[in-house]
Amino acid sequence: MAHYDLVVRGGRVIDPAQGLDAHCDVAIVRGRIAAVGQNLAELGVRDGVVDAHGLIVTPGMVDLHTHVYWGVPPLGIEPDPNCLARGVTTAVDAGSAGADTFPAFRRYIIDVSATRIVAMLHISSIGMARDDQAGGVGELEDIRWAKVERAIDVARAHSDIIMGIKVRLQSDMVGNDPEQCREALRRTQAAAHAIGKPAMVHVGGTTIPLDEILGALNTGDTVTHCYHARSEGVLDERGKVRTSVKRAIEKGINFDVGHGRGSFDFNVARRALDQGLLPGTISSDIHAWNIAGPVYDLATTASKFLHLGLPLHEVLRRVTINPATAVGMAGRIGTLAPGADADLSLLRLAEGEWPFEDSHGHVELGGTRLEPVSVVRAGKVYPCSPSVYAGEQGHVH
Ligand SMILES: [Zn+2]
Repeated sequence: MAHYDLVVRGGRVIDPAQGLDAHCDVAIVRGRIAAVGQNLAELGVRDGVVDAHGLIVTPGMVDLHTHVYWGVPPLGIEPDPNCLARGVTTAVDAGSAGADTFPAFRRYIIDVSATRIVAMLHISSIGMARDDQAGGVGELEDIRWAKVERAIDVARAHSDIIMGIKVRLQSDMVGNDPEQCREALRRTQAAAHAIGKPAMVHVGGTTIPLDEILGALNTGDTVTHCYHARSEGVLDERGKVRTSVKRAIEKGINFDVGHGRGSFDFNVARRALDQGLLPGTISSDIHAWNIAGPVYDLATTASKFLHLGLPLHEVLRRVTINPATAVGMAGRIGTLAPGADADLSLLRLAEGEWPFEDSHGHVELGGTRLEPVSVVRAGKVYPCSPSVYAGEQGHVH
């Protein structure tokens, strides 16, 4: 009788959550990790063996900032071709849906996608059902959309997949009155507090100081777009990491990359990294206006941090266990420990000359790129599709 359903054989298995880096096999039974070790396929396999020689095998990548509500917010993209097929087994949707638009998100997208999708619910009940392009009306320019009780009700009704509350505090989204920005943050925290889950706060270009925002956040909350180049960034006028940022990290606030179309600047990132401000999580903020560049996907975003000098283990930690922890799912996902859901990413380290572009048109040439080859999601194998990036950019040596 077969011992395992599926074995991923012979890869370099890297699981930062367990401090594991070894050439070995990963065995799966009934959609969960059963064992990690040598020669597991010899014990008998029912469904098949995936050959991972020459590849890195990691816990399924978790992208903490995506927009996968296709068809309702204009920025939404389809999850399976852009997440699962690009190596991401769990996409955290960052506020595309609010309380009024969440039920359809669940029924027509989340429940029918192969990508695991969990969500940060927008405090604005319409979510991002607005035009983000120039001239769009911000989702909280009228604060009446920030409905705390509605958000709490919906978050409780979908507590299995709503992992926190999202707000965007930039003036384009909440208007130019600082009091309104404060009120949006207060309502976000009231809802998050009531459901006992974290807040995710989009910073940059705010009418109130970053120091004030950070001072109001709690342990476990996430600040997204940590390397943006708008006003109220992590660096002060002299280019030094703000004291409030250091305090926030000590307090356990997660600083997330959220690359996006306008939120990742190589100069800011490099200056911050040089001073020891590492991101807690690396996420893409992938949406309709950046999938064809400069973001492409999470693997390309993660590769930019290899280029910036972060060691491979530290990069992988920030796309596996750290984002899993940020949404309260550590142990279930983000690790290959026995009992965890059988989500895996198989990646190739492609050496070559790779132009990496930030959100401001700065292009730097990197030498290594993480290229997703296939994923296992809940014990099932899916091939990855070729990246748009690889077709357009660079070349392999
Ligand atoms: Zn976003």
